[in-house]
Amino acid sequence: MSNIPPSHFSSLKVAMLAGGIGGAKLVLGFDRIMAPGHLTAIVNTGDDFTHFGLKICPDIDSVAYALAGLANKTYGWGLEGETWKVSDALEVFGAPTWFQLGDRDLATHLERTRLLRHGKKLSEVVDDFSERWGIASRILPMSNDEAPTLIETKAGVALPFQDYLVREKAQPVISRILLHGGYEPEVLPEALMAIEEADLVVIAPSNPWVSIDPILALPGVREALAEKYVTAVSPIIQGKAIKGPAAKMFAELGVQPSSLAVMRHYADILNMFVYDSSEKAYAAAEIPLRVLPVQMPTIMTDEADKVGLAQSILGQFADQIGAL
Ligand code: GDP
Repeated sequence: MSNIPPSHFSSLKVAMLAGGIGGAKLVLGFDRIMAPGHLTAIVNTGDDFTHFGLKICPDIDSVAYALAGLANKTYGWGLEGETWKVSDALEVFGAPTWFQLGDRDLATHLERTRLLRHGKKLSEVVDDFSERWGIASRILPMSNDEAPTLIETKAGVALPFQDYLVREKAQPVISRILLHGGYEPEVLPEALMAIEEADLVVIAPSNPWVSIDPILALPGVREALAEKYVTAVSPIIQGKAIKGPAAKMFAELGVQPSSLAVMRHYADILNMFVYDSSEKAYAAAEIPLRVLPVQMPTIMTDEADKVGLAQSILGQFADQIGAL
């Protein structure tokens, strides 16, 4: 694989599709090596919800806090050095505190909600916050429209996503995932443009079912991707998710969880697929014709891992395209 110095990537444009935890890690890696403004992260809003009257966008905030250098280093969500005074006081009232809202994090939700009530669009609020936080890459919500993911359980209940993930701790067995919750959201035009202008599209190692599929299901996205060189990084390593219910979802939806299953999930839009070097290499017969599977270390613990993975992906892309 080419060991190309970062300066060689300066003219390249990358668009990423991302959720929160795995998404934020790899978006950060690319942000640190791309020229300012050359990376656009298109982020899932299917997890967004309203709590205490506040608009909360968990995936956008995870990505933005990471790029701003504000993210909590332990959890993968929330802010570093957070305090919990409001949450403690709410507890005294017996108010619902299952979704943890730190004091400083609350300021983000309060101000976002205020701006939205004044008629700003979500993408404008995200741009505004990004500028204030000194973020050089562009973060875009996948849509400005409502697009809530609902989880239908075997018990026949349709749970809003955060109720399933956080309040119910992803315990209920899934029977179906309802993307966009009955709404018909439009993809953000800037997101479509970012895909069209990109040299490379990277699908982050995010949950395929609830972080990436909501983006792919927006009208026009798959058609735009069909024209592009698309790579994805597996969030499943050795049959397990690093964090969260991705592997459990595969199993409950009738698919053995594995990186190979992730590759097959995306096969019709992929050119290259990155899976972890610790896994056994795929047999030739397992690989769809158009997809190049590539093994790399994909566990991102610190910033060096994140940057290293982004560099390896760009190096591999350069080898394939032969034009850098
Ligand atoms: P969420 O929206 O906050 O649930 O976050 P994502 O969908 O972006 O991320 C969840 C996925 O990220 C899980 O399936 C994890 O396995 C994956 N993930 C988290 N950290 C890593 C990592 O360091 N490497 C890889 N390959 N996947 C990761």
